[in-house]
Amino acid sequence: MKGQLDLFREQNLEQVRALRVLLRPSTLLEAECGECNQRDAISVSTEELYRYKDGALVQDVWPKMPAAHREIIRGAVTRMYVCDSCWHKFDERG
Ligand SMILES: [Zn+2]
Repeated sequence: MKGQLDLFREQNLEQVRALRVLLRPSTLLEAECGECNQRDAISVSTEELYRYKDGALVQDVWPKMPAAHREIIRGAVTRMYVCDSCWHKFDERG
């Protein structure tokens, strides 16, 4: 069972998030490729980013986004990223 303090913390977190979304409706995410160190960036809605960080699948939060862009988001959050051109290099090698 949740204590009073946990409940307070949860409500507090929700308020902080709501405020952040209000103050900064979009967030710039940057991911650095682990292969060639190229940096890619993408701007996403802060609210959607929170949904993803809460455990939603990237393809559920951004169903219409190209896969390469979703990789930047995933890479920025997990800090493990391989850029699009490096992926193609892997493909050619087989
Ligand atoms: Zn790369």
